[in-house]
Amino acid sequence: MARVAALVVAAGRGERFGGERPKQYQGLGGQPLLRHSLSMLAGHPAVAAVRAVVDPAHWAFYDEAADGLELLDPVAGGAERHDSVRQGLESLADQAPDLVLIHDGARPLLPPEVVDRVIAALDRAPGAIAALPVADTLKRAEGEAIGATVPRAGLWRAQTPQGFRFAEILTAYRDLTAGAWTDDAAVAEQAGLEVLLVEGAEASLKVTTPENLAQAESLLRAREESQPMEYRSGSGFDVHRFGPGDHVVLCGLKIPHPQGLLGHSDADVALHALTDAILGALGEGDIGIHFPPSDPQWRGAKSAIFLRHARDLVRARGGRLVNLDLTIICEAPKLAPHREAMIASLAELLELAPERISVKATTTEGLGFTGRREGIAAQAAATLCLPEGP
Ligand code: MG
Repeated sequence: MARVAALVVAAGRGERFGGERPKQYQGLGGQPLLRHSLSMLAGHPAVAAVRAVVDPAHWAFYDEAADGLELLDPVAGGAERHDSVRQGLESLADQAPDLVLIHDGARPLLPPEVVDRVIAALDRAPGAIAALPVADTLKRAEGEAIGATVPRAGLWRAQTPQGFRFAEILTAYRDLTAGAWTDDAAVAEQAGLEVLLVEGAEASLKVTTPENLAQAESLLRAREESQPMEYRSGSGFDVHRFGPGDHVVLCGLKIPHPQGLLGHSDADVALHALTDAILGALGEGDIGIHFPPSDPQWRGAKSAIFLRHARDLVRARGGRLVNLDLTIICEAPKLAPHREAMIASLAELLELAPERISVKATTTEGLGFTGRREGIAAQAAATLCLPEGP
């Protein structure tokens, strides 16, 4: 199978758009606009690697938009769009993918099947772009009046992604002379490459005005509403033993205690149980499969990484967390004073309303290993709303 990389070009200033932040970082369906295409491409089975091209003035916005997604590090864009694309292509040169998809970060609602169509067409030609036939009658203006009616037969509106065999488009960009290049197909055409037109999607609109953003918002809602969903639940359980230390970490919070918890990571037994509950609801195994304890990179790791990974798997499936219920079992430390803070910490980690998160604590009346104060146990239940599966 061809190795496919995707470049998401998001280096525009979007100054026409207005607002506190550039348009590609404004909210759409509760997430930064750019995140929609990044997460779809990162989760697409045919796409091996995704990299964004970003204005360095926007790193902080980018970090927020890309948080937790499996992406290559972003690269800085240039003054013009074609400079940004060239920089993105050069940054992939050492990986030399077979194919590259160049996607406009201002098109958030790219359907996965359009990606499939573009990739499939690259078997037949060195270039292929998503596009739609022009349906409206076209007029050429002369001043205020119509100068001519332009025959629309054979006319298409170019969208993205625009896909190419990597070596050929890289060469075309390296040889490019100055000019007004509004898309990558134009660069390929002038280099003599054949570029096929494949069917794009009306939903994959380019957000250039606040009206477009509102339109994308209602398309997104309609897409969610037409998708049959189902509820799935999962449970998780974990135990960590006490050892030397002066605090334990629970729900990402440091809680003072005359002992610590032993473990390969930060031993956050609560986050481990929650992560396993979410993975369980997804049917995605357990925390040890995703983050093997034998792998030294997870030694001392913050367990928030594990929980966020599980959250992102839910998002990549087009689903959402409905609620979580956690019970922490120990004689000490006393957890009631930390309950609100633990809920707030989970709400922030998961980007979930605190009302959907329950944290409870209990003892075992002095019985068993928790009763003997040998360690802390945690159990969790998670409910997810996911697109209906097989
Ligand atoms: Mg554990």
